[in-house]
Amino acid sequence: MTIEDAQRRSSGATVDTVAETGVDSTVAQQRNTALAGAVPAGARVRPEHARRHNRALVLQTLYRANGLSRADLAREVGLTRVTISDLVSDFLDEGLVIDLGIRPDARPGKPATLLDINRTGFSIVGLDLSNSAVFRGVVTDLDGVVVERAEVSVGGTRGQEAVDAVFALLEDLIGRATAPIIGVGIGSPGIVDLDGTVVSAPNLGWTEVPLQHLVAERFKLPTQVANDANMAAQGERSFGGASTDMMLIRVGRGVGSGVVVGGNLVYGSGFAAGEIGHVVVGTDGGEKCACGKSGCLEVWLSSPRLEQVVAEHGDEAREAALREAGERLGISLAPIVAALNLGEVVLAGPHNLLAGPLLEGTAETLRSRTMAELHGNLTLRMTTLGRDIVVLGAVVMVLTGQLGVS
Ligand SMILES: [Zn+2]
Repeated sequence: MTIEDAQRRSSGATVDTVAETGVDSTVAQQRNTALAGAVPAGARVRPEHARRHNRALVLQTLYRANGLSRADLAREVGLTRVTISDLVSDFLDEGLVIDLGIRPDARPGKPATLLDINRTGFSIVGLDLSNSAVFRGVVTDLDGVVVERAEVSVGGTRGQEAVDAVFALLEDLIGRATAPIIGVGIGSPGIVDLDGTVVSAPNLGWTEVPLQHLVAERFKLPTQVANDANMAAQGERSFGGASTDMMLIRVGRGVGSGVVVGGNLVYGSGFAAGEIGHVVVGTDGGEKCACGKSGCLEVWLSSPRLEQVVAEHGDEAREAALREAGERLGISLAPIVAALNLGEVVLAGPHNLLAGPLLEGTAETLRSRTMAELHGNLTLRMTTLGRDIVVLGAVVMVLTGQLGVS
């Protein structure tokens, strides 16, 4: 994620929206005094905007480094020493930045004091609601290092009961946090709009559930709710080292994806960008899908279907069936990869099913269906973040929204 993205997310517009939706003034105030922020796109730059922008720049530079002096910061950020000292002094007062002591390598002149962002001094709570059997949650530090874990069983839980399960899990995790919490991030299945309202999540029986507003109001904490695959894409960008033009495919009970172009998540006209699970692959039919169509990507690629394939076939037939599922994925991805000129496609889901013949089938199909001269540099790989990918993405969204860093 880029600073621009951070700016958009932590812009004043967010504050207005929160105030309008009736979140009580404490929360609105918390957002107003969010630890950093930036300039709303297209706004005239006023002194307070410039200051918020500079705060985010300094924090981002410290976050991605490993101890910098004020002089290093001035050089890297391109601000004067006086401005940097001023900002740093505020950060030290707020506890957001800590003094690491004198730089160990003795250089000529006055020894420099190294500064770092206070990585373990604050907590972030991240939730993943995408599993049909359990809601999972973590408490992390600012580096995304998990310090607490909890989960709650939700098999068949729907509607308000599912909202209550989210509340219960949050109460548990918030109670365990030993450092001040800067925010809560929640990855939900289904379509989620930019205000964190779950427009539609059929598996949870949710329609127009303003989850972000409900959580922010109940816990008086800055909260961000987004689609689980979009969260996963954010997690892969920040903690998985993915490129600025990438697609993250999540394979589970269904198939979803998050698309990042130029470092920014693509949401689409109805917040459903990346929802490729019910796109029919090819013109040769296929099994009937729960949605009523035949041959949707999901009937080829969902985990239950792949598990069935593995259970029913001998070694050779199993490999062929997995490869075919990978080919179907390649067929559906080729036009997307070409249209957006993506540099990377990352798969997240059951490693034993996806890595191997399936991934190879996808790679070969992508190669044979796109122009090597234009798209030959495409990387196709499995995520390295494992099953924490969504909660880590939620952590990134909070970091970006509250501190302007990623
Ligand atoms: Zn379908």
